[in-house]
Amino acid sequence: MKKIIEDTKNERNAIPPALAEYPNNHQKRRYNPQWEVKFPWLRYSVTEDGAYCAYCFVFASSTPSPWEPLICAPFKDWKNAVGSKRGILTNHELSKTHQGAMLAAANFTAVSRREIESVKESSSRGYSEIVKKNRKILLATAFVLDVVIVLAKRGIAFRGNWDSAAMKENGNFEFFIKWLAKYDESLSEHLSTAAKNARYLSP
Ligand SMILES: [Zn+2]
Repeated sequence: MKKIIEDTKNERNAIPPALAEYPNNHQKRRYNPQWEVKFPWLRYSVTEDGAYCAYCFVFASSTPSPWEPLICAPFKDWKNAVGSKRGILTNHELSKTHQGAMLAAANFTAVSRREIESVKESSSRGYSEIVKKNRKILLATAFVLDVVIVLAKRGIAFRGNWDSAAMKENGNFEFFIKWLAKYDESLSEHLSTAAKNARYLSP
């Protein structure tokens, strides 16, 4: 398991362009990997020829619609991605949903870091338990982000088919998260206790 975690982290740290050449759409426009320099949250999915915001995908607490591009559905409007005035990517970055998702991710990391630093000064057993729990949550979130990025990099679709019998989507993202949870106690615990509005398994 450690090897898998290490591999996914290494892949995340060295994300090369998903493709050497990106396909043209009917308007003869294509995805530009240079956009990722200005918008580091942007991830391209090869199979969907579309892009997502990794942070909103994991942390967005609510979305205007279940088909929202960049969050729930692949963004493909390359022509209007960046504009002379303001493109869709800039608008997304300034949106309340994105700001909220970034804040949630930053708070999550900051709280966990503070707790880990504070534990060195605290000998309280109860406090240590809280720290331990926060560490586990941080680890679980790192897994989720890793899966998002690995799926995007390898061009595996995030979303699958709608399973009407189970009233849910049977996607690769859910499959990988559940598969990882089988081997990792912290992720498994987090999945069973995560808030209902946490969208980890229902992008
Ligand atoms: Zn976003």
